[in-house]
Amino acid sequence: MLNKKTVRDIEVKNKKVLLRVDFNVPLDRETKSIITSDKRIVESLKTIEYLISAGAKVILCSHIGKTGQNISLRPVAVHLSELLQKNIMFLNDCIGHEVKEAVSNMKSSDVILLENLRNHIEEENNDENFAKELASLAQIFVNDAFGTVHRAHASTEGITKFLPSVCGFLIEKEIKALDQAINNPVRPLVAIIGGAKVSSKIAVLTNLIDKVDTILIGGAMAYTFQKSLGHKVGQSLVENDKLEVATQIMQKAFDSGVEFILPIDNIVSNEISENAIVQTALATDIPEDLMGVDIGEKTIELFKNEILTAGTVVWNGPVGVFEIEKFANGTRQIALALADSNAITIIGGGDSAAAVEKFGVADKMTHISTGGGASLEFMEGKKLPGIEALEDK
Ligand code: AMP
Repeated sequence: MLNKKTVRDIEVKNKKVLLRVDFNVPLDRETKSIITSDKRIVESLKTIEYLISAGAKVILCSHIGKTGQNISLRPVAVHLSELLQKNIMFLNDCIGHEVKEAVSNMKSSDVILLENLRNHIEEENNDENFAKELASLAQIFVNDAFGTVHRAHASTEGITKFLPSVCGFLIEKEIKALDQAINNPVRPLVAIIGGAKVSSKIAVLTNLIDKVDTILIGGAMAYTFQKSLGHKVGQSLVENDKLEVATQIMQKAFDSGVEFILPIDNIVSNEISENAIVQTALATDIPEDLMGVDIGEKTIELFKNEILTAGTVVWNGPVGVFEIEKFANGTRQIALALADSNAITIIGGGDSAAAVEKFGVADKMTHISTGGGASLEFMEGKKLPGIEALEDK
């Protein structure tokens, strides 16, 4: 349950409101000026529109890309203007004299977008003076950037020391969906955990074992589990230093009465490329010179049955190298099974969100998180500093 104040709980009329959004959208590789998915912008509109209609002076800030890349948010300003059907003033920096001047001239319902916060190294360092500078622009801080709430940065955590701070509708929606799925689910609760490495999913698996009824394991991380059971995994990606942890996780699942289901067959190949030759192998017996790249047909059927009888499914991580068409079938079939099921379906951002988009079933999901890292840390049971720092109800 989210026990934090939201924009509904404060008076914003004629007030300068600094709204931290997540406009970290993908841009085309060449010109870095064409937005290739505007999902995060669209997801921010509800709070922006609310503040505009409530008569606030809306100052938007966000990061885009990494510190040092100096990518501009200007294309976002243009697109946002179109989406809102409203003129947006774009400023070339996020702090400094010119920004202060522009903000002081704002009228009720005006919208300004500040330039990329990460053009200043102080943002990620959670520098106090930088946070204070940002805070000096406004009277109220609203955080709606779910994608960065797992980071204590100047614009997500530091700033809350200087302004009354509440959350927006996107954070509210994300936490509600994730919290209900993990802590108060319609059962059976099934987690599908895939992706490349066991090491990055140890915390989530450990936490989920106390919550879920069934865990389905896919992706390269399955081979570390398979190897720890003494199976032949050929050239598959394995983390040899995590074999012991893999055994412990399976033991914990067994002790807790959680069904822990590994693939029973795999698509295997000699290389990771579009030209690879593929065949199916039993998960216990991947040929010496081949590697697992996807789950096989029997595993797909097994996983589908679990999905179709689930009350809630949470999905984090593709079950194969879905970026390559020949290895994408498992991930596609999982996405389609989720679309067909009556379960509440929660997609944990990142690659799993990209997969449901790619296979055309995004609109069939109950909730697709806008924050891969943030939703993973939520599922790990961690406190999210960008949310913790906001005012309690
Ligand atoms: P993660 O960031 O840990 O969720 O990992 C996502 C990545 O795992 C994707 O880029 C997939 O291509 C990759 N992946 C999934 N299955 C495999 C596999 N069998 N072998 C190698 N990489 C895989």
